[in-house]
Amino acid sequence: MSNRFADRVAIVTGAAQGIGLATARRLAGEGARVAVVDLDPARSAAAAKEIGAGATGYGCDVTDGDAVTATVDAVVADHGRLDVLVNNAGITRDNLLFKMTAADWNAVLTTNLTSMFHCCQAAQKHMVAARYGRIVNLSSRSALGNRGQANYAAAKAGVQGLTATLAIELGPFDVTVNAVAPGYVATPMTAATATRVGAAVEDHQRAAAARTPLGRVGQPEEIAAVVAFLASDDASYVSGQTLYVNGGAR
Ligand code: NDP
Repeated sequence: MSNRFADRVAIVTGAAQGIGLATARRLAGEGARVAVVDLDPARSAAAAKEIGAGATGYGCDVTDGDAVTATVDAVVADHGRLDVLVNNAGITRDNLLFKMTAADWNAVLTTNLTSMFHCCQAAQKHMVAARYGRIVNLSSRSALGNRGQANYAAAKAGVQGLTATLAIELGPFDVTVNAVAPGYVATPMTAATATRVGAAVEDHQRAAAARTPLGRVGQPEEIAAVVAFLASDDASYVSGQTLYVNGGAR
């Protein structure tokens, strides 16, 4: 594996499992010192220990702006710099509109979108001062519309607007901002969705695979590889983009 992130420090949110964990592992494998940020400090620490390579765990609820600022500042104090921010933490609270509660609307908007406002605002202070930064935000194929996901689709479409705008504002400081929009990826999140709709995880995945030109669902490592590209200097002239990573599905 290459060493694209030697001397780089990266924060990955929601990194205790799923796509975030795979991304943290990938960045660490390419030389980054990774801050594994997740809700539960013990799970963050356990994930960081499993990753090794100088990864460190931090407990932080990314919906809490003050906690985010404190965590980002702690990472910079501990590691001396901040080069990469991967905004990956997210939740679903699916329901058809007529049954969706305001609480579920707000929870999804706050966790999937407002959290990115907090994390980007806290990170840009350090990145602008250093005249360098790479921000990668997790959007979703659902941004194009998905039955039962009005809240999630709105949040993930919002992520794309936030990404495009921050690319304009931060570009002059050599801070790039891009988004990745995965299709169906085999993670605890999609396993929980299967369980909620009363399907076996394998059957749920088989149905998604049948809708996908590549004939299978995605794996977290396949998203992590694209995030790593956008976070690296291989993507030094790419900014403001949303890259769909969905096996060719529409
Ligand atoms: P998972 O649910 O498997 O993992 C998400 C992680 O984020 C969990 O560890 C979770 O912690 C953490 N998290 C949730 N809320 C917060 C919070 N407020 N503060 C800090 N951490 C939090 O999700 P995936 O790996 O599947 O998804 C990762 C990202 O990719 C999400 O943004 C998701 O929307 C997006 N995505 C996923 C797709 C898929 O098919 N899996 C498709 C398209 C996009 P805890 O478990 O304790 O709640």
